[in-house]
Amino acid sequence: MKIAIDGPSGAGKSTLAKILASELGITYLDTGAMYRALGLKAYRLGIAANDEPKVKELIGNTVIDVLASEGGTQVFLDGEDVSTQIREHHISKMASDISALHCVRIFMVDLQRKIASLRPSVLDGRDIGTVVLPNADYKFYLTASVEERAHRRYLELLARGEKCDEAQIREDIAKRDYNDMNRQHSPLKKADDAIEIDSTSLSVDEVKQKMLGFIRKG
Ligand code: C5P
Repeated sequence: MKIAIDGPSGAGKSTLAKILASELGITYLDTGAMYRALGLKAYRLGIAANDEPKVKELIGNTVIDVLASEGGTQVFLDGEDVSTQIREHHISKMASDISALHCVRIFMVDLQRKIASLRPSVLDGRDIGTVVLPNADYKFYLTASVEERAHRRYLELLARGEKCDEAQIREDIAKRDYNDMNRQHSPLKKADDAIEIDSTSLSVDEVKQKMLGFIRKG
């Protein structure tokens, strides 16, 4: 079984993907974590995310491994577990910028398909239903208002002890949405055959019930 969950940042994709994986006993792959890992490496080396020749070279010298576990996806960058560092707020922008490059998309999509081919899995990202797994058994497109998504991210960062400003987060999310939806390669969009769920005023459990309802119906 292959399940694709796409949608903008903060719509609840990873929370729901983790829950589905555990309910259905399948693997969860957080594809955003892979773009974040590459973004982190570029950041550390001072490489601009839009410098395609340098990023191309970087890809050639980078090993990204993912380990799907109960608690989510652990990401290893050249052997180092960077699962926590990639969640820092400034890495979100690096990930979004670097993910617009064609060479990055080719590299990641190939890796994601290989991982997904090994086991039944649920993948979340921006292009899973449209590009990575166009033949997925179930496709969901999860959305929520930008205000709600910013508020969720704000609470998440606060809980992790990161200093943050909700208005700034809202602005950053809106910019990232714009970049993700308007880039040339694999822009974020709903696959024609995806089921759209707006989670703005739904609890996690309500979204889960809706998704499982579709899956169990076959
Ligand atoms: O999902 P997450 O917010 O962690 O992803 C970080 C960034 O990686 C996104 O803003 C998006 O630009 C990019 N991404 C992508 N395709 C995916 C997953 C993430 O372009 N399948």
